[in-house]
Order: sequence, then structure tokens, then C-alpha cells
Amino acid sequence: MNRAVFLDRDGVINAAPYNTEEEKYDSPYTLAGFRLLPGAKVAIRLLNEKNWLTVVVSNQPGVAKAKCSAPFLEELNERMRAGLAASGAHLDAIYYCMHHPEAVVPEFRQVCQCRKPRPGLLLAAADDLQIDLTSSYIIGDSLKDVDAGLAAGCTPILIRPRSRKGDRSTVNATRTATSLLAAAKQLLTKEGEL
Ligand SMILES: [Mg+2]
Ligand SMILES: [Zn+2]
Repeated sequence: MNRAVFLDRDGVINAAPYNTEEEKYDSPYTLAGFRLLPGAKVAIRLLNEKNWLTVVVSNQPGVAKAKCSAPFLEELNERMRAGLAASGAHLDAIYYCMHHPEAVVPEFRQVCQCRKPRPGLLLAAADDLQIDLTSSYIIGDSLKDVDAGLAAGCTPILIRPRSRKGDRSTVNATRTATSLLAAAKQLLTKEGEL
């Protein structure tokens, strides 16, 4: 059995641009808008070196909402993989939930089992890659990531920039870190591998 670190994408690996229209952090919808966050490459390389599978699990309803195309998502994956490879880091797999309950594109309009906070993406990856979920982690910047990880039996680490306040009980009960690199170091320290 393998152990994995599941990684949310936007706000963890790459910057999540602020969408002023929807008043929330969103996914980048242009290649130029894709920027790896500081320390992400080093963090993923560290996890690679210590034999943790690195698996992206991300809600990407952009196609369903007609904000981007499926080929664009593929291009972004290539950009992400190339950016990481330049520093000797790699992702073992990428899993996206493409659905949304209010999708404008009918084929993606559904209440699915894979949109976080549901654990479907993690369960699918565990099945495909022989992952022992109880010895695995999820690192994300949203409570949806934390809840999906807990539902799958993983240990969550919540990335929470210092500026953002958290008052919910889940936040208080969860390990937190200020970046992916800090989270990876915390995880490896806890496992006695750093
Ligand atoms: Mg996120
Ligand atoms: Zn889904």
C-alpha cells in the first residue's frame, strides 16, 4: 500500500486570483494567470523524495460554468507539471471534479460524489493507486478540503494565511500551516522524516 499527500490546487500549489464579480478566490482561467506559489515546488519535491505520492484533488467547475474549456484545463496541467519539473518535483496524479449542481453545461450539472467536501476524488485515487487513506494526508486552504479528507480517513492540514481569521470549530481542531512548504515540513516532522 502507498501513502499519499492529497493536495488541493488553487491557493495551495498555485495562486488563486480574486474574482471581484463573485467576491471570492477563484481558479486562474488564463495561462498567464497561472503562478506557482512560493515554496510549492520545494514542498512537493520534499514529499517526492520521502516517497509520498502527491495527488492533486481539486474542484474545477470552470468548464461546467463555461468559464474555460476542457483543453484549457489540460494546458494548465501541463504548465503546472512543467513548472514543478523545472525544480525536480512531480505530481503522481491529478483528479478533478468537473461537476457543479448549477452548471450551465448540462452534462456537468449534477450533485456528484466527488465534489469536495465529499471524498469521491480521494476514494477514486486510493482505488487507482493502492493508497492507504488512514496513513495519508490532505493539504488544502478550505474547510471543504478538510472535510473531504476527514470523510476519507486522512489527516488534514489547513493552509491559513496569517491574515485570515478562523473561528469555526473545525478550524480550531485542525492542524494549520501558513503555506504548502510549512505544511509539508510539519507533516514530515510528525512522521519523523525531517
Ligand atoms: Mg483551494
Ligand atoms: Zn464531481
